[in-house]
Amino acid sequence: MENHSPCVPGLFEDQGGVHLLGARCVTCGTPYFPRQAACRNPHCGESKMEDCSFSGRGTVWSYSVADFSPPAPFKCDPPFKPYVIAVVDLENGLRIVGQMMNEFEEMKVGALVELVIDTLYHEGDVARTTWKFKPAGGH
Ligand SMILES: [Zn+2]
Repeated sequence: MENHSPCVPGLFEDQGGVHLLGARCVTCGTPYFPRQAACRNPHCGESKMEDCSFSGRGTVWSYSVADFSPPAPFKCDPPFKPYVIAVVDLENGLRIVGQMMNEFEEMKVGALVELVIDTLYHEGDVARTTWKFKPAGGH
């Protein structure tokens, strides 16, 4: 059995579904991920933050293909393989970028997707994980 560990600690939980650990401004409702100490909404009078976790499904707002490796701190197992990257609107109001599990040809703006935790790269015998999206509606 392979060991799994998040590539960056404290960003998500993977028990009873995937939960991204973010925050929300109590005053204006703006969601943030990762957690922020203060609200950046210029129209928000009083920045009061509370922890908030984001999960569930979302819809693809836009997508593209990363044809070559992004600069550090991005890591992947060599050789680099192009992957689909999408901007997803989660049902609870957060717009977030993530890698897709499926191919470019299968992508569609407005498609329903769900959060998953998957391996990003290996470090020794440890699989470093991150959040990704896969088409929703399957198993
Ligand atoms: Zn605010």
